[in-house]
Amino acid sequence: MQTMEEFPGDAPLRARLENWLLAGLRTEVEPRAYDLEMQQSVLTRLQNVPAEETAKRIGIAGFTLHPYAAEGIEEACETCMYFLSHRQFCALPELMLPVRPDWSCRLWRI
Ligand code: SF4
Repeated sequence: MQTMEEFPGDAPLRARLENWLLAGLRTEVEPRAYDLEMQQSVLTRLQNVPAEETAKRIGIAGFTLHPYAAEGIEEACETCMYFLSHRQFCALPELMLPVRPDWSCRLWRI
């Protein structure tokens, strides 16, 4: 299994995402994509945005720099089924972006 060090492109992109969010990039944190209809809606929108339009994609996905708290559950990348811990990476095909364990998005899945 490859480690974080083996993906040198991830760190600068992760830092860019973090800086956009710290600078106040607005993202669609809600409504959350808990039901199939909402999930499909968000995924279809993501599929229609070119991969290089990263700011737009994290906006649609509703990225935050902290876990989203819902009904006693902390929705964080580190507990999401798409999170690759060895790489600190989101492997959801529509995202495929470096993240951090305590970030979150509305496509979170356990
Ligand atoms: S899908 Fe999961 S791992 Fe990917 S950004 Fe959203 S919460 Fe994080």
